[in-house]
Amino acid sequence: MIAPANPVLELFHQTGAYLRGHFRLTSGLHSREYLQCALVLQHPRHAEQLGALLAEALRSLVPELAVETVVSPALGGVIIGYEVARALGARAIFTERDPSGHMILRRGFSLQPGEATVVVEDVVTTGGTTREVVECLAANGARVLAAGSIIDRSGGRAEVGAPRVSLATLNVVTYPPDQCPLCQQGIPVTKPGSRPAPAA
Ligand code: ZN
Repeated sequence: MIAPANPVLELFHQTGAYLRGHFRLTSGLHSREYLQCALVLQHPRHAEQLGALLAEALRSLVPELAVETVVSPALGGVIIGYEVARALGARAIFTERDPSGHMILRRGFSLQPGEATVVVEDVVTTGGTTREVVECLAANGARVLAAGSIIDRSGGRAEVGAPRVSLATLNVVTYPPDQCPLCQQGIPVTKPGSRPAPAA
């Protein structure tokens, strides 16, 4: 899945954020590979560099991009959103889920009618989370100019309801658990993401 020429993916290799093994993804599918953005973003200099690259990519996507506010879904999008905002000279805020699972603005964050925003996330897999943020912003009266992520695991297919760009696009090979060759070899599966693994 890794294109060695991509300097962003090279950074994942260097920082140990490109994991190989036997993983259960949030979707329930199994995979041999996982990119753990938090392991790159723990280094402020790398986070700042990726934020600058993503800001540049967003500017290429939307000419004369004038962004007032970068909005990210917590928790994964917060650090990269903050660094993109730094590079764009914008404000950075984040959305969270309420107890019923709806994406909302909390902590006194607010948006002006027509405020120019971009949505920034660490990883796009299906695009569902970014799309929820886009819908939250529309419901709050903001304009969504574009969306960006460090990694696109959808192979470029995710639709989020706004023009979208990523620093690295991957086609991750996944297996349903009952067809997983690693399961068939008896290799224990791990859950590398941010949510706790369900009891086996
Ligand atoms: Zn498996």
